[in-house]
Order: sequence, then C-alpha cells, then structure tokens
Amino acid sequence: MFVSGATILHADLDSFYASVEQRDDPRLRGRPVIVGGGVVLAASYEAKHYGVRTAMSGGRALRLCPHAIVVPPRMSAYSAASKAVFEVFRDTTPLVEGISIDEAFLEVGGLRKIAGTPEEIAARLRAEVLERVGLPITVGVARTKFLAKVASGVAKPDGLLVVPPDGELEFLHPLPVERLWGVGRVTAEKLHARGITTVGQVAALAESTLVGMLGRASGRHLHALAHNVDPRRVRVGQRRRSIGAQRALGRSPRTRAELEAFLAALVDRVTRRLRAAHRVCRTVVLRLRFADFARVTRSHTLLQSTDDTQLVLDAARRLLREAMPMIDERGVTLIGVALSNLDRENAVQLALPFPGEPAGSLDAAVDHVRDRFGTAALTRAALLGRDPGISVPLLPD
Ligand SMILES: [Mg+2]
Repeated sequence: MFVSGATILHADLDSFYASVEQRDDPRLRGRPVIVGGGVVLAASYEAKHYGVRTAMSGGRALRLCPHAIVVPPRMSAYSAASKAVFEVFRDTTPLVEGISIDEAFLEVGGLRKIAGTPEEIAARLRAEVLERVGLPITVGVARTKFLAKVASGVAKPDGLLVVPPDGELEFLHPLPVERLWGVGRVTAEKLHARGITTVGQVAALAESTLVGMLGRASGRHLHALAHNVDPRRVRVGQRRRSIGAQRALGRSPRTRAELEAFLAALVDRVTRRLRAAHRVCRTVVLRLRFADFARVTRSHTLLQSTDDTQLVLDAARRLLREAMPMIDERGVTLIGVALSNLDRENAVQLALPFPGEPAGSLDAAVDHVRDRFGTAALTRAALLGRDPGISVPLLPD
C-alpha cells in the first residue's frame, strides 16, 4: 500500500498576544506577562510556569504569580502580526489552511524538489517568522492534521517536532489523554475516573465501551483519534458556512432592553464582517445559553439574501421577542447571533431599500469609520455607558 510521507505542517505561534507584547516592549522580555485584565487573554511562558492559564480570572492569576506584569490587549497590533505571519505561510506554500489568527496547517508535500524536505521547510519557516515578524512559532510535522497538531502541542514553546510515518503510534500512545483533540476537562475527568490517563489506554478500549462512557459522538471521535485515523486533507480557501459572534452575560438577570442592546451590538459586528467578506446571508440565527448550561438556537430565513444591518437586526429582534418567555423562566447566560446560508454578494440580486429606510450607504459609512478609527469610534445610543465586551481579532471571513 502506498503510504504518503509526513508532509503536513501545523504552525502555531507561542502565547501569541503575550509574545507580541514582549516583542514590542523589551522590558517585558523574560518576565511573566499577562495580557488582559478581568480575564487572562494570554500569558507568557514565564507566567504559565506559575500555573497561569488563558481564560483564568485575573485575580486568580495574580495570586498564582503576584509579580506578573499585566498589560491591556492591543488587538490591532495582534491583527497586524497575524497578517505578517500568514504572509510568511503563503510564501512557504500555496496550500495554507488558516485555523485561527495564530495557527495554520500547511501542506508542503509537493515542494521537495524546490524547497527540500518537510523538516527543512519547517525549520526555515520558523527562522523566517522570527526574522520577519519577530515572534516565536512552533511547528509540528506529520502525515495527518491531527498528529501534526499534537506534535506542535508537545514541542511548545519555540520547537520543531517531526512524527515519522513509521513512528506514529509510538509517539501517540504514551501521551496523556488531554493531548487528544476534543478532550476537555470534563472528558478527561471521566476517563481519569476509570483509571485511563494515556492515549494508549484509550486505544485499548472497544469503540462501544468508549461510546458507553462518553456518548456517541465523543466516543467515536476518541476511538478514531486514538487509532490514528484522520483522513482530512489541508483545505485551502475553505469558505465559512456561517459568521457569528456571541457574548457571555454572567449570572445576573437581564432585562429585555439590555438584551436588545447586546443583540444590536452583536448584529453590528457580524454584519460588518459579512460586508467586509463581500458576502450576503439569508438566515439569521439567535443562540442562547441558559443558567443550567442548556443551549438553544432559533432561526429565521429571510425571503431574500441581504447584508443590511437593519434587516438582520429586525429578524434577530423578532427571534429574541419570541424567546423572551423561555429566557424569563430559565435565565440567560450567553447570547449570540450567527448569519448562515451565505452567498457571494454579487451572486444574488439584492433587495432594493424599502421606501423611507436608510440604504446601504449608512452601513458603508459606519463600516468605514470603524475600519479607520476602531470599533469603539461609533456606537449605538442603547449601548452608551455599557461595557462593549471584548472583540478579538479573527481570520478574514
Ligand atoms: Mg497559538
């Protein structure tokens, strides 16, 4: 049987936000740095050494590492750094699949004659990211995406690790189960409770046993990964199927007016991204999470595709109104909006503006002001004096 070589690179910047801060301020180098405030958005490896982790509360992080230096996030600097790193990726190979702003898969199998072995290409990529962007990046190299990602996780920080095709199970099986994609704290605890701590132990279980322990989807997924089954290829330029944004609300009760204001801000965000991607949507989805962590979605499909803020907002408001009895009864802890049924903007005839409604020129003007002066430059009156929530940089849609 033909076995292809280890030609997939998983390239992942180390402690991305914190590394950008250390790059731009020499006083932060070699010291524990926390980016964020109320919540840790990123921690340098010096801070991680003390147990500081992303998404931890700022208070807890400072108890673990009292001498940490806390800096506010500079999202525009991270966006710029991400763009520069993706330029290096695309100079390396045309086959780049972005996963997030600091992470991508690269297929380099066809480049052997002109650029060398995958290991040589990976080493050069790391040197180039450091030289051109000034940031440390770790690269895992393997035959599958899953193994390449596991390899970069193991090699962090500032490392390079190749998993040869004939050494895959030897690499995978001794690793802790937490290294498997999709194993979070809850799944790890379930496995630990049964004395299962390594991937090899997971591989020794029948699929039906895992399904019984973890449920159907999760059990099958882990069974496949532990046996090193991952047929996915690197996919270039894969278009998103939806564009979404959400906001956690905490546990305190929320009035309808407050929820409507948050909803409007979310709609502003997603429609702006929709227009920036030159796309239109037909379906508006409202996502809710309740106090008991149950989630529901409600959706509305428009008669015609649109990129108009007001039309999307009207649909979202209607969905919220219909969901209010449920919200009042169960308490809402997260609200989100997603736009789906996406199409290219020039692929469909857009609806003309309704009489008396502002045309797309208002949206265009607002987008332009925000692109130039930042998201906070313009806001809705209903949101004045409210915490806008954190808007993190994303890959282009
Ligand atoms: Mg990263």
